[in-house]
Amino acid sequence: MAITPETPVRFLKGVGASRAKVLEEYGLATAGDLLWFFPYRYEDRRHPTHIADLGHHLDESVLVRGRVISAHAKLSPVKRMKIFEAVLQDESGAVKLVWFNQAFLSEQIKRGDRLAVFGPPKLSAYGHLQIESPDWEKFEGDEEEEGAIVPIYSKVGNIPPKALRRIVAQSLEALPALEEPLPDAIREALHVGPLAPAIEQLHRPRELSDEFLWRRSPAHRRVILQEFFTFQLALRVRRATEEVNRKQRKIRIDDSIRAEVKKILPFRLTRAQKRVMKEIVDDLQSDRPMYRLLQGDVGSGKTIVALIAAMIVIRNGHQVALLAPTEILVEQHYQRISQLLDHSVVLAKATGAATPSERRTLHSGLRDGYIQFVVGTHALLEEKIEFKSLGLAIVDEQHRFGVEQRQRLFAKGETPDIVVMTATPIPRSLALAMYGDLELSVIDELPPGRQAIKTAVRASSQLERIYGFMDDQIASGAQIYLVYPIIEESEKLNLKPLKQGFESIRSRFPNHQVAMLHGRMSSADKEATMQRFKAREIDILVSTTVIEVGIDVPNASIMLIIDADRFGLSQLHQLRGRVGRGERKSYCILVSDKEKDRLDLFAETRDGFEVAERDLQLRGPGEFLGTRQSGALRFRFGNIVRDHEYMERARDVAIDVIERGGVSGADAIARKLLGVEVAAAAMRD
Ligand code: ADP
Ligand code: MG
Repeated sequence: MAITPETPVRFLKGVGASRAKVLEEYGLATAGDLLWFFPYRYEDRRHPTHIADLGHHLDESVLVRGRVISAHAKLSPVKRMKIFEAVLQDESGAVKLVWFNQAFLSEQIKRGDRLAVFGPPKLSAYGHLQIESPDWEKFEGDEEEEGAIVPIYSKVGNIPPKALRRIVAQSLEALPALEEPLPDAIREALHVGPLAPAIEQLHRPRELSDEFLWRRSPAHRRVILQEFFTFQLALRVRRATEEVNRKQRKIRIDDSIRAEVKKILPFRLTRAQKRVMKEIVDDLQSDRPMYRLLQGDVGSGKTIVALIAAMIVIRNGHQVALLAPTEILVEQHYQRISQLLDHSVVLAKATGAATPSERRTLHSGLRDGYIQFVVGTHALLEEKIEFKSLGLAIVDEQHRFGVEQRQRLFAKGETPDIVVMTATPIPRSLALAMYGDLELSVIDELPPGRQAIKTAVRASSQLERIYGFMDDQIASGAQIYLVYPIIEESEKLNLKPLKQGFESIRSRFPNHQVAMLHGRMSSADKEATMQRFKAREIDILVSTTVIEVGIDVPNASIMLIIDADRFGLSQLHQLRGRVGRGERKSYCILVSDKEKDRLDLFAETRDGFEVAERDLQLRGPGEFLGTRQSGALRFRFGNIVRDHEYMERARDVAIDVIERGGVSGADAIARKLLGVEVAAAAMRD
């Protein structure tokens, strides 16, 4: 019977009931699954090294071929473990092979066998050359005699590597029956070749070129692009399905709106702000719902851009909601917006702290349209909150905002426009990977006149000197943030180090006002503390990372971070962004006795996007985004950092496919592609 992609693994040679079960546990149920089970590395076993030359290859894996002239198991006197030794001889000499705890090898390797072994020659404790725990294969004539490039697969249960290779090799017989999931036109647009030869190449490369080893070969490109394209297409199809409901509202901008916007603007927009403003206004006026990520470094002025958009929507008779992650930020936005708008719109606040009667007023005001602009936490997403006509939702700080929240927001209005603002500069590649269905706007310029923040890295032994500096600065009116590495996102929040730190700072600065801030405080307490800090009643605010996001106190000019090595660079950048917001010369002081190089690198870099790129390179996407988000980026073949330009191409082609072929055509392609379980984690969100 011919093997097809659907053939269950148990019909393959060398697979009995028990191996079939093991394979299935690993998600390898059919020959088709095995096709996608690619080697994670390759060994070039074509060019054997002469045993006499092994001394030149210490600790580097080499291929040696020869005949076993002795073989026996013994007990190691030192390590009390079983070892199996064999001596391999070729025409140039002989070398000892040693395997630890593999006594069963005495059944498999016998005197007189011809073996190809692959492993690193090492010097034994007695100064002899030996090869430890090499991979080995017997060669009994023909095929493997000439040597080959051997694919190395990751372990599947207890199936020996060689048996696994045979099993996968058989699955390749299914290739002629493999359906090509990508139509020619899409393949052309993606610049990729057909699937079957690519899969064959990945299992059985003819050459190990640099391009191949760097996963840059046409075969790799094909598989990675298919994966990315599937992801992008599925995201886009989902988005397009939402967009089936075209917006009914017409947004017009007339002279009176322009005049009013001018009036509330306390300064001139930067060029970047203007550009982004135009992108948003175009979206507001389009009949397709906006879904846009507004990225900008801390202090780049995202809020004002969002606010102008809000004004436009409100003056066209619709409501606006602004969602912020914490109550402190809600309060801050509320105050700033009421200052700027100066009673020209009806503004309300929605937080958990509201009394029942305040809540009733809020609910009815939103329902009958009296309230035009509401600022709130995720409480705004609750079912009880209804709008008369929600036109625009602005989400500040995207980190805790996922697809599910978007859908809930969406249900609150007739296809409201959505802008998600984030101050975490995410490299474009990553942004596209995470939010393939968002449009991206970037404010890549700071308003003029910003002071550079002096960043310094200091050892903990220098703390007393830093405190002295703080004394001087406080005397001249400065305020200080002091941050302990307690990440508020973590489930088990241990506040002990913070409390100890707080006590020690209080006793070190008996004449100054010291206060503490952390996420476990009641919102009223947090609020009160922030207000006191803003009112300059507090000199030193000892805090966790709650202050990482968005807090704006212009008079605070020193950010002191304890054990700074425990933070990612992007997080440090966020913290640093809390100072340098006013007239004062500002400082960010990193205290750490570790990872000086990484911190020095940070100290030299001002640009948030550059910090983010470096952070991403150093820690990889999972760490970079924090454990919560990392699941969203688990691609099987592609690596969004290494392959970012493929992601962009995949995205462009996906957009194009929907535009030309319509949603249903695209949906059909996406479904076919999703038959291969790629990026499943990413799709789940
Ligand atoms: P972020 O992008 O971090 O949210 P904000 O919107 O809070 O930044 O703006 C940071 C500060 O810069 C605010 O005090 C704001 O009033 C000010 N600002 C924004 N845009 C400009 C501009 N074009 N010129 C001068 N100051 C600006
Ligand atoms: Mg902000």
